[in-house]
Parts: sequence; structure tokens; C-alpha cells
Amino acid sequence: MRVFENNIRKVEPYVPGEQPQGNVIKLNTNENPYPPAPGVRTALQNMDTDLMRRYPDPTAGELVHTLAEYYGVKDEQVFVGVGSDDVLAMCFLTFFNSQKPILFPDITYSFYKVWAELYRIPYECPQVDSQFRIVKEDYYKENGGVIFPNPNAPTSIYEELDFVEDILQHNQDVIVIVDEAYIDFAGKSAMELIDRYDNLIVVQTFSKARSMAGMRIGYAISNPTLIKYLNDAKYSFNSYTMNQTSLVCGVEAVKDRIYFEEQTAKIIETREWSKKELSALGFVFPDSRSNFIFAKHPEFDAKELFEALKKEDIYVRFLGGSRIKDYLRISIGTRQEMEVLISFLKTYIEERKEIKTC
Ligand code: PMP
Repeated sequence: MRVFENNIRKVEPYVPGEQPQGNVIKLNTNENPYPPAPGVRTALQNMDTDLMRRYPDPTAGELVHTLAEYYGVKDEQVFVGVGSDDVLAMCFLTFFNSQKPILFPDITYSFYKVWAELYRIPYECPQVDSQFRIVKEDYYKENGGVIFPNPNAPTSIYEELDFVEDILQHNQDVIVIVDEAYIDFAGKSAMELIDRYDNLIVVQTFSKARSMAGMRIGYAISNPTLIKYLNDAKYSFNSYTMNQTSLVCGVEAVKDRIYFEEQTAKIIETREWSKKELSALGFVFPDSRSNFIFAKHPEFDAKELFEALKKEDIYVRFLGGSRIKDYLRISIGTRQEMEVLISFLKTYIEERKEIKTC
């Protein structure tokens, strides 16, 4: 081994879902099956490419202001980044500098562990219970910070605000981050607790309900003090995180509240339909409040189902790992896409059952 190898920061990276090209049914990365708001297309068509000569606004002022207005907070309470992954990575760097372990669930967004390892932040992962629910009492002990998604991913389970507040009440001396990537499909946001808890940061994204995963926009809402710390870290890293196109398109996406609400309602309706159909086929799953369903079939191997679906150009996510090896994470597509999925599963299951009884 060469000596310089000792000086290299070696990490086990996060593995994103496959991005197959072409005409496939893509239910593997919790993207939105519908296009972004029509205003985004118009803004893009009208965009002056001369703007690209220049660096973008490092404060992302217009986008920050549009988000602040939308949520009824001050501009100084909003931080934007290149997807919520960027915002969360910046939060880990900025807020989790204790020698004590930070806490996050054992079954959760697998990037948390990667950032903790990358920044050498000690961490502990209390187990979710047998129903995959986060056990809030596990977060009442001394720690260096807390982070969890609500709804949790990949379990899809949403916890009501009193649950979030209990965790906040027991953790007033550390930063608590609530990752709300899927909140628009779920219920109340913890944003309404921000005025009462000066240690709370709520992180959201444009990638799911706003249908702009490709634009890479995420944001954190908190009090001006914590947002200032985040910006200081950002400016110590890269001043121009948000590119010009994302800034222009992001503003338009936020402006169209009606389109956003209509598309989100459509996805929720398809989710509820998909739950009934999957149940009828014998699948079991936690009650999803997200844009995906985390399902297992008691009689079929998840990896085999995953492969069989892939052969049909239907992509879902198989995450593996000891506690969730029997599960598939199925994003909610259009009603038509979900019908194709269900119809394939129905045939697959019937055929296998016939073979078994022969
Ligand atoms: N948090 C959770 C819980 C997620 O599932 C995802 C999506 N993979 C993200 C954050 C990051 O999303 P993005 O960077 O696209 O905003």
C-alpha cells in the first residue's frame, strides 16, 4: 500500500437508486410522476442565457424570499441548497459537533450514516419497533443532536406533531432536525413549532411533491440565528451553490400553489388505491403517508420480486439489510403505471401459486 493512502479520507458512499433511461415504469426513487408547474416551463423558455455568463446570486435572494412568503416566515429564516441532501449535509457539518453521539433511527434515510462517517460524528441508532415505529423515549437520553425524517423513509410512517414535540421537549440542549422530504403527502409540518423551539430545524425539498428532483433544490426553515450559522458554513464551502436555472425555476414552482395541491392530491388518491390493490394481493405494509409504499409479501422473496419486475421494465427499490430484506419500496406513479404494476404482480403471484399446488 502506498504511504499516501494513510492520508486519504475513505468513505463508504451512499448508493442512490438506479436511473434507467428510456421507456420504463420508474417507481424506485420516489420521484413525482407529473411534470412541474406550467410556470416553470414558461420561465425556462424565457430565460436569458446571457445570465449564465455571470455567477448566480449567492444569497439565492428571490427564491429565499418566495419561500419565506409562502410559509409566512422572514427571509432570514430560510436557507436553500442543492437538494435537501446538500442542506442536510451542511446541517451535519454545522450543528453536530459534539463528542456525544447523535441519534437517528436504525431504519431510516441511509445517507445520515454516510454523513456521520464522512464528518466523523459519533452516532447511535435506536431501533424502530417491530411495526417500524420510532420509539420516542429512545431519544430522551443525553446526545449530540437528533435527526429523523417525518414521514420516515423507507418505512413511510408519519408521526403526529405531539410526537415530534415530545422529542423536542426532551432535547432542548441539542439541535433537532426534522427531515420533511415527504411531508406534503402526510400531515402537519413541524414548521409551526419553530417559534417555540429555538433548536429546531425543518428541512424540505422540491424533489418530491414539487416534482423537481432534477433541479436539485432543498431548504431549511428555522430561526435566524441557526440559519446564519448554516450560511456561514455554506460560504466557507461554496458561495454559489444554487445555479441560475434552479433559482429561476424554483421561484415559479413555489408560486403555483393550486397546481401543487392538485398534483399532490392526485398522488395521495393513487396511493390509497394502490394500498387496497396491494392488500388484496396479500402484501403487508405500514400505513403509508408518503409517496411510496414499503411492502412485503409473506410468501414471496423481495429480491426475486424486484428482479422479476425489473425484467418487465418496472423499477422498484430493494434496499436489503437485515431487518428490511423482505421489503420493497414502491414509489407512487401515475394511476396507469400503478395499474401495470398491480396487473403484473397479480399474474406473477397467480402463476407461482399454481406451480406450488401442481
Ligand atoms: N431525505 C429523505 C428522507 C429522502 O428520502 C431524500 C430523497 N432521497 C432526501 C432527503 C434527499 O432528497 P433531495 O436531495 O432530492 O432533496
